Amino acid sequence: MDITIPDTVIMGNEVIAVSNGLLVNTIDNGDTKTFQWRHRYPIVTYYVMAAVSNFVHFQDMFNGTSGESFPLDYYVFEDDLGISQQGVVDMPEAIQFYSDVFGLYPFRNEKYGMTQLGFYGAIENQTNTITNNMSPSWFDVSVHELAHMWFGDMITCADWHHGWLNEGFATYAEALWAEHENGPNGYFNNMAGNEYWQGGTLYLQNAQDTFNIFQSIIYSKGAYVLHMLRGVLGDEMFFEGVLDYAQNPEFIYKNASTEDLQNVFETVSGMELEFFFDQWVFDEYFPIYRYNYAQNSGNSLYMTIYQAQEELYNRRPVFEMPVRLLIHFQDGSDTLVTVWNDQQTQSFGFDFEMQVTGLEFDPEKWILRQAQFDPGIQVGENELIPITKAVTIYPNPTGNFIELTLNRPTESWQFELMGVNGELIETQVYKKQSVKIDLSRFPGGLYFVKVITDHQFTIVKIVKTSD
Ligand SMILES: [Zn+2]
Repeated sequence: MDITIPDTVIMGNEVIAVSNGLLVNTIDNGDTKTFQWRHRYPIVTYYVMAAVSNFVHFQDMFNGTSGESFPLDYYVFEDDLGISQQGVVDMPEAIQFYSDVFGLYPFRNEKYGMTQLGFYGAIENQTNTITNNMSPSWFDVSVHELAHMWFGDMITCADWHHGWLNEGFATYAEALWAEHENGPNGYFNNMAGNEYWQGGTLYLQNAQDTFNIFQSIIYSKGAYVLHMLRGVLGDEMFFEGVLDYAQNPEFIYKNASTEDLQNVFETVSGMELEFFFDQWVFDEYFPIYRYNYAQNSGNSLYMTIYQAQEELYNRRPVFEMPVRLLIHFQDGSDTLVTVWNDQQTQSFGFDFEMQVTGLEFDPEKWILRQAQFDPGIQVGENELIPITKAVTIYPNPTGNFIELTLNRPTESWQFELMGVNGELIETQVYKKQSVKIDLSRFPGGLYFVKVITDHQFTIVKIVKTSD
């Protein structure tokens, strides 16, 4: 891009022209000047930018841990120079953090920068975000626009139906930065700001109406859907999937759709994720849970979950999700169990040895949901199948061997042996429905056996009596 402007000074500052990429030449034409900017990466039309003003320019450098090095160029109005310099102090740290999570900064042969805009807002123009404000209080916006360099700029939504891929990732990146800065509390507090209760699908139905694309749903619910995907897959698989997506040669410097994202996460996890994207991206609203629980004299705990959104509002009857339950015991200890909830009314049973004093439903809000304890919901162990019945473990207590039998056929399943504090001791994948497992090399004591099938996992406590 060549930008020719009058050779002028306003209020003591030379008027200059900025754009994407690098300034390679400034030509003096007498009364005018020509600024030659060159950008050598693929770019979508709506991220092309030019700005002309009497900017003050300041610069920083990014030196990444992988050896990459490029300038950070900021163009601001003179009055805001001090506050802007304060506001971008952490930018190199944010670039390093996102490089670690998403892969190297996409435009590392050129630059990153921001240019100040005279009215409210910010747009992630490629290598040169325009923003109203670079002050420290706007750093959330600054990291949002930075994250867009990966999601939006490098990987552009295939069309505006999938605009949530741009805004969802950039908004979720704000929560990841909050987690990086302030730990889990920072993360969960940030995500609480993204709860979205309105109707409409995340998949934008009307992509023709250009004034109606950037609705709050694609930011808030977009971020929440990524948060929920993390909840379903667990941190390891989720971040592996994010990196695979953000470094996929099929998408980088090109486009991606919701289906592309789903495929990546299905490949990484080996899970069928159609149910997840169907209900959260292509359908509306969220589950409204009612739950109740009771314990029998043998200390087995039974609980029932009912999804009330159909009865209340005539919305889709079932959202299929893993639900975390934090269970408190008489001695002050607690344990977190996860049940796979895929029916409108569903009951679960757990074998505990202690008196349960309380149960918290999805305490960290891994699901966009409403939930309420409802003592009116029937819980009776007679009509319930305890979750432990999904797998038979014999004998328990045991000596050196246990035999595990899955009560429903499955292609393959995973066995995990965990210590009394939940630490993983051994893991193995089996295809046979019934296997004999040798425990002879482990000392006697309490263990947990976790059996993971397609959509369900079951944890059973076992006692090994002999060394
Ligand atoms: Zn954005």
